[in-house]
Amino acid sequence: MKKQCKICGNTGVIFDRNTNTGPHGDLRVCDCIEKKCTCGAFPPYQVFDEKGNHSWCVCRSPRMKLVTAKKAFRESQIPRKYMWKFIEDFEIVSDKANKVIGPIATIKDMSPNKKLKKGVYLWGPAGSGKTLLACIFLQEFMLKYAMSGKFIDLSRQFFQRLKRSYDNTDQSYGTSGQILEELIKMPFIVIDDFGVQRNTDWESEMLYNLIDSRYSDERITIITSNSNITEYKKIAKGRVYSRILEMCRIIHVDLPDYRESMSQYI
Ligand SMILES: [Zn+2]
Ligand SMILES: [Zn+2]
Repeated sequence: MKKQCKICGNTGVIFDRNTNTGPHGDLRVCDCIEKKCTCGAFPPYQVFDEKGNHSWCVCRSPRMKLVTAKKAFRESQIPRKYMWKFIEDFEIVSDKANKVIGPIATIKDMSPNKKLKKGVYLWGPAGSGKTLLACIFLQEFMLKYAMSGKFIDLSRQFFQRLKRSYDNTDQSYGTSGQILEELIKMPFIVIDDFGVQRNTDWESEMLYNLIDSRYSDERITIITSNSNITEYKKIAKGRVYSRILEMCRIIHVDLPDYRESMSQYI
């Protein structure tokens, strides 16, 4: 078996806080790949033997993965304050925090070839750190699998955007199918501030369709909510409740004393 790199876990792409190409660090190809690269890092990343036969350099696949990962981060719409946050940014202040962060650590150690099966449902009071955690999950997934992800804030933009697409005076008229389709196909999404009781029937139905379609396509959904999952039992004949249970690992986040480790920015 190939020895696992301690830095990238053999994914080949890492987030480097200390690189000066970005204000908060940047994504780059891991040193374990750079050391083995013999093509001089020039596209299309091929090497020639004495006879002039060419083959692909070991760096080719990670370098292409890096491009995909960078695009995923750029287009993720993660709020600025949660951008570039990874597991190290969640300082362990109690045993409780350990329990919450545990699943991320497990996923990080998993072989990159192993497919993720479940998302997470993070619930707890406001200010408990669940949105930060959701963004950490999302960014760890995007980095590990070099696949796209999106942050959706249900409280504001999402339904507004959808509603506008039903208004025939708006230029987005008729695009609701497209908006939903894009979210269904997205490998990872964070649905922030999920709370069915606050929504209208129409909104709940939209949300249910989104979750249900993602479920049938086996895509990973990360949800944050103030509500205990059992509160959904009574809503929509328990459909939302049972779907979320099947798709997500339920994690109670109640860490009013959580602290973000900001030392790297000082
Ligand atoms: Zn490595
Ligand atoms: Zn190379």
